Amino acid sequence: MIAGNWKMHLGPAEARTFLEGLSLGDVPAQQELLIFPPSVTLASLVADPSRPARVQVGIQNIHWEDQGAFTGEVSAGMAAEVGATFALIGHSERRHVFGETDEEVSLKVTAAYRHGLVPVVCVGETLEERRAGRVDEVILRQLDAALSAFPAQGRVLLAYEPVWAIGTGETATPQDASAAHATLRRRLTDALGVAKAREVAILYGGSVKPANAAELLDATDVDGVLVGGASLDPESFARIASAGS
Ligand code: PEP
Repeated sequence: MIAGNWKMHLGPAEARTFLEGLSLGDVPAQQELLIFPPSVTLASLVADPSRPARVQVGIQNIHWEDQGAFTGEVSAGMAAEVGATFALIGHSERRHVFGETDEEVSLKVTAAYRHGLVPVVCVGETLEERRAGRVDEVILRQLDAALSAFPAQGRVLLAYEPVWAIGTGETATPQDASAAHATLRRRLTDALGVAKAREVAILYGGSVKPANAAELLDATDVDGVLVGGASLDPESFARIASAGS
C-alpha cells in the first residue's frame, strides 16, 4: 500500500492538475494506492474522470459522532457518502497539534467501522520519548487504545510514523522501522491471533521520498508507506509507488 497524505494542501483545482500529471505506467498492478486529500477536495477527487480507478480515496480525519453541533467537523458517514473508503485516524498532527487523545482515536475507529470506512491508525513516538527508550511503550499504548475498537471482522491498517521523522527530512532507518513494526505485529498477534494479525498491513511514514522509498519498502515487516510532502507531486508519488516492485 502506498498512501499519500496531502494534509492541508491541494484544493479541488490543484487536485485536478495532480491527476492530469499522474502516470502509473511503472507501478506494479498489485500495488494498492490511496490518497487522503483535504475534506473539501474529497468529492471532486472521487468523481474526477481522470482519477485512475486503482487510486482509492480516504478522509484525513473524522469526528466520532454521526452528526451534531460540532462546528468544523466532518463525520464518517458524510465522508462515505461522497466516496471515501478509508479514514486516517490519530495522525501525529491530530494528536500533537490538536490534542487528540487515545480515547478519541478509539471512538473514531468505531465510527469508521460503523460507516464502512477502513481505518488507517497512526502511532508513533516523539524524539523525547525515543531518547528516553520509550518507543515500544508509547506505540503499544496507542495501538491498544485503537485495538479496543477493532471488530471481529473488518480491515484495518496501521501506520508507524515516528513524530520526529514527519516533515523534517529525518527518516527512521529501515532497521528502526522494522523493529517498531515487529513490536506492533507481536501485539496484533497476541490480540487477534496469527491469521488476522497477518492481514493487518503496517505502513511506515516519515519523510519518505523517491530516494529512500525502496529501502524502506524492502525492510522486514514494512507493508507499505504513508507519504506526506512527497505525495503532493504526481511524479514523485508515482516513483515511490514503483519503488516497491
Ligand atoms: C505524514 O504526513 O503522514 C508524513 C509522513 O509526512 P512526511 O512524509 O512529509 O514526513
